[in-house]
Amino acid sequence: MALSILNEEENAIRDAILALVKDTIAPKSQAFDRSAVFPRENMEMLGRQGYLGMIVDPKWGGAGASYLAQTLVVEAIAAADPATAVIYEVHNSLHIEGIWRFGTDEQRARFLPALCQGDAIGAFAITEAESGSNAAAMRTRAVKSGSEYRLNGRKVFITSAGEADWYIVFATVDPTLGEKGITAFLVPKDAPGLHFGPPEDKLGIRASRTSEVILDDVRVPEENRLGQEGQGYSMALFLLDGGRIGIAAQSVGIMSTALERSLAYAREREQFGRPIGQFEGVQWRLADMATDLHAARLMTYEAAHRREEGPAQRPLFAMAKLFASEKAVQHAADAIQIFGGYGYMREYGVERLLRDAKVTEIYEGTSEIMRLVIASRLLKEYDLGNI
Ligand SMILES: Cc1cc2nc3c(=O)[nH]c(=O)nc-3n(C[C@H](O)[C@H](O)[C@H](O)COP(=O)(O)OP(=O)(O)OC[C@H]3O[C@@H](n4cnc5c(N)ncnc54)[C@H](O)[C@@H]3O)c2cc1C
Repeated sequence: MALSILNEEENAIRDAILALVKDTIAPKSQAFDRSAVFPRENMEMLGRQGYLGMIVDPKWGGAGASYLAQTLVVEAIAAADPATAVIYEVHNSLHIEGIWRFGTDEQRARFLPALCQGDAIGAFAITEAESGSNAAAMRTRAVKSGSEYRLNGRKVFITSAGEADWYIVFATVDPTLGEKGITAFLVPKDAPGLHFGPPEDKLGIRASRTSEVILDDVRVPEENRLGQEGQGYSMALFLLDGGRIGIAAQSVGIMSTALERSLAYAREREQFGRPIGQFEGVQWRLADMATDLHAARLMTYEAAHRREEGPAQRPLFAMAKLFASEKAVQHAADAIQIFGGYGYMREYGVERLLRDAKVTEIYEGTSEIMRLVIASRLLKEYDLGNI
């Protein structure tokens, strides 16, 4: 059904991606979760169908679509397979968008076509063991030597590490400068000295690989520096604004499946001689789930719609992620409760919602950091007219 908040093109994209996901990604998602095999075929298929790099200008291989359109795609994928959704989200919002917004024309021409076609996968490496929420405290060093940089350090918890073909790696050119020393580099998977840890054994989104990225004197030519020296931190925050909208959309996708599965079960499961959906205790839960889903979706679409306003709207992006991710975790638990004992069994695929939802409160900024972002701006200059 067409949503009035979307324009005609966005509604058409939504219908098309929902149908594509239903036919292609959904049937295999449970198997990918069980085997924890990286779903490269999903990314290749999404590339062939024109769903990668959607916001990028067609002259660099993209579709010239709106940010909201790309957000709808994350949501649709997440409804079926949150693991593929995060791979997609990092590839698009953090990697492709980084090159698209901050790269030179030469870098756009060199990197974007393959990334948009699904021939190459991109990753984003900022987190380190000692600097997670406080990413500016990173220790990875970039030392200039002639026309190249030498990178040394270790990144942890990197989505698609070991599978991705290209990495946007953040390193400091001068630790005494704090965030003003942080610089971004494009590093290929086969760069000598670049190594990967084994896949982390995770609670959820198991088919998405998460690994360490180890930089042992990796030589990066100057033409692979993204943006200027010292521009990396503000670029990362800009990209994470979009990433947070993507994680909000991932959460909305999980919520929509939690509600859909719960409604179907409440209609069919009988106890005390009638469907459990006829009990008020179940009905109230369903009503709250639908209300939250509607609110989270509107917040996420509004954030996507205002993405181009950039850091000025950082609180709106954080609010969408905060609300949607916390509700996704709650609704996943609600769905298990509605399914009773069956919800706890792997066979029914409802327990996976909770395993997959939990990380949305953690990555691309934890819920606590989202609250800090919102409150600090509210207390400074944020115009309440925006909300
Ligand atoms: C599956 C997965 C995939 C990931 N993918 C990537 C990726 O692709 N690229 C990448 O660079 N990173 C990635 N990350 C890292 C992720 O972004 C970090 O885990 C996250 O930012 C939190 O950092 P941390 O784990 O070091 O926790 P910490 O920063 O150590 O936080 C621990 C706890 O303290 C709280 N806390 C910290 N500071 C404050 C504060 N000032 N006020 C209140 N509470 C605070 C946090 O909210 C949290 O509850 C991924 C993580 C996971 C789990």
